[in-house]
Amino acid sequence: MSYIEELQQLLTPKQVSTNETTLEQHGRDEGYHPLSLPDAVVFPASTEDVQKVVAFANERRIPLIPFGLGTSLEGHVIPYQGGISLDLSLMNKVLDVRPQDFLVKVQPGLTRTQLNKELKKHGLFFSVDPGADATLGGMAATNASGTTSVKYGIMRDQVKDLEVVLPDGKVIHTGGMAAKSSSGLHLNGLIVGSEGTLGVITELTLQVYGIPEAIMAGRATFPTVQAAVDAVTMIRTSGISIARMELVDARSIQQVNKINELHYAERPTLFLEFHGNEAGLKQDVAFAQEIVNDFGCEELQFELDTKAQAQLWEVRHNLAYAFIHGSPGRKMMVTDVSVPLTELAGAIQDTRAAIEKEDLDGAVLGHVGDGNYHALFMIDMKDEEEVARAKRLNEHIVHYALARGGTCTGEHGVGVGKAIYQRQEHGAAFEVMKAIKTALDPNGIMNPGKIFID
Ligand SMILES: Cc1cc2nc3c(=O)[nH]c(=O)nc-3n(C[C@H](O)[C@H](O)[C@H](O)COP(=O)(O)OP(=O)(O)OC[C@H]3O[C@@H](n4cnc5c(N)ncnc54)[C@H](O)[C@@H]3O)c2cc1C
Repeated sequence: MSYIEELQQLLTPKQVSTNETTLEQHGRDEGYHPLSLPDAVVFPASTEDVQKVVAFANERRIPLIPFGLGTSLEGHVIPYQGGISLDLSLMNKVLDVRPQDFLVKVQPGLTRTQLNKELKKHGLFFSVDPGADATLGGMAATNASGTTSVKYGIMRDQVKDLEVVLPDGKVIHTGGMAAKSSSGLHLNGLIVGSEGTLGVITELTLQVYGIPEAIMAGRATFPTVQAAVDAVTMIRTSGISIARMELVDARSIQQVNKINELHYAERPTLFLEFHGNEAGLKQDVAFAQEIVNDFGCEELQFELDTKAQAQLWEVRHNLAYAFIHGSPGRKMMVTDVSVPLTELAGAIQDTRAAIEKEDLDGAVLGHVGDGNYHALFMIDMKDEEEVARAKRLNEHIVHYALARGGTCTGEHGVGVGKAIYQRQEHGAAFEVMKAIKTALDPNGIMNPGKIFID
């Protein structure tokens, strides 16, 4: 009997697929890394199912790759050594909402928009919003962040507890429901960002927030990217409680206009959002207005009704898709460094010069409120010379950031794409990380070939 038939007996035949389309869907992500198929895709319906599959894979030394929605960008979910893709989409329930504790307990296959739909009924929202509609399990595993992280924090800040199935099949909880704790090592922090290399997340307890009484959103255009970034730095240092502060360069706005039939000014633009109560908001907005004017803001336009605000952020969220849909046959490469705020303007300037030197059609955008920005290109993977130029540019941007105390990935994670920079970025601490990996996963079954490659 093949191991796949054994798995079908262990769960149910319906939960184990070798359908070609299903294998392909689990052999790629949304980035440029090449396809590689798993042997089978397994759909667990409970923590017990996950335990059975993990213990089976561990005993047989079969690679096991947890899979949320496959929206990651650095080859995280691609099974380069074959094995089992463990798709958590059947485990997608909201288990408990505790409005007065500002907590929610969910299964890992639930997506952030599904969660927000449920939370809205309680006047609450979940803050982390990566550009794709990802699963909460995948977001925790990559330590995702998004447009609101400048105010509410990143995924690691929201996770209060995780239920995790370890490679030996044991189930642990990494935290609790208390608002604070000084007890034990910070296992939440360890598992968040571990990209399925240490275990499978089967339940998450997350911090949620009350929907703000008043929201104000708008766009500010500037003569140069430098002026926009300088305004960002000043807004941050002024202490204004801004909830979103996104930079989009002129090339990005051009693409947005083309795909969405809009007429935004094709200039470096900041998308801004303020959360608070009516009175506080008025003061914050007036102060921010003064600041952007000081940096040569050409046009500042606020959207007052919720529909127009939603459209503004839909445009921002769909920016990458504006490039994807506008470049059929090409693959997206997105750089993802984060630098200290004082290095941001120089970093973006250097990136723009490097894009021009490599003669690539690239956009610069990002969550600049927390020093995280992306250069985005659509590349023709059949054109070896173009691929080489794009990779050279990516590497240049990473080295620039690392030399200034930054990181090779602000939010997308390591996967295979950033694994080569781990030793350079972490030095001796990388050995500590490897020792933890070996202690928890001595047989190396969990998502092999990701993060830990040397
Ligand atoms: C257009 C676009 C825009 C994006 N914008 C952002 C952004 O603004 N910010 C950002 O942070 N990211 C962004 N991303 C990247 C991506 O959406 C995130 O990395 C997201 O967190 C991945 O979630 P997923 O459910 O798709 O996980 P997957 O891609 O399926 O998996 C990602 C990693 O998590 C592991 N994993 C998944 N589920 C589990 C589990 N239950 N237990 C253990 N490990 C697990 C996988 O093994 C893999 O290593 C963007 C992607 C796209 C395509």
